[in-house]
Amino acid sequence: MVAFFDLKDCLDAKENLLWGIADLSQTEYAEQYQTAIVLAFKYAGNMDAAHYVESAFHELLEQCKTVSGDVQNDIIALLDYHDIKYLVPPPSQRDEELLQAPFSFKRAAVDAGIGWIGKNDLLITHEFGPRVFLRAVLADYPFPCDKLSQTQRCGDCMVCVDACPHGFIKGNVWQGDTARGDLIDYMGCNNWRSGFKEKLGRKHHCGLCLFACPYGK
Ligand code: SF4
Ligand code: SF4
Repeated sequence: MVAFFDLKDCLDAKENLLWGIADLSQTEYAEQYQTAIVLAFKYAGNMDAAHYVESAFHELLEQCKTVSGDVQNDIIALLDYHDIKYLVPPPSQRDEELLQAPFSFKRAAVDAGIGWIGKNDLLITHEFGPRVFLRAVLADYPFPCDKLSQTQRCGDCMVCVDACPHGFIKGNVWQGDTARGDLIDYMGCNNWRSGFKEKLGRKHHCGLCLFACPYGK
């Protein structure tokens, strides 16, 4: 367990970071990797949904990529030092038909006890709300997975539902195995954001349902 204590020392020393370990034994990765180290970085800034600026949100995400990439490199160095096999899954989906990443960071974050899935289909943390940037490193090592998955705490809140100008969020409560299509019209959301590719050179980072969430404000 020396590797775990080294990992804990490394990650507990970081500010504005939630982290946990997800068990991979029931996943398609089980044959090669035992656990996932899951990281949730608080955005370095915040915005009110009423004063939301897309380009500023883009900048926030770019900052998070840099900061979280440095921490991810620390973890990789630590795993290398302990001679532990690892995999860094790609951070976002590239399949425009299924709109699914090969490894679900959100699912892993729930399994690691970091948060729950909100009505807006985002990971919601009690500490920082949905204002987090996720990363994960899969490890062929039995890091202890001792945090329980959280149950949803959205309750009767409908703030994100009301914040979406297109009505893509359906208002249903996530129950652990709820399909994302029952939470949100993810195709509609993706199609709308993809419509900005020519203008922005990338998808639109709509953050209205994210910055509206009362958790982490
Ligand atoms: S990201 Fe924007 S368009 Fe998509 S569901 Fe949220 S508020 Fe609606
Ligand atoms: S705005 Fe309300 S319903 Fe939506 S994710 Fe946040 S807490 Fe849940």
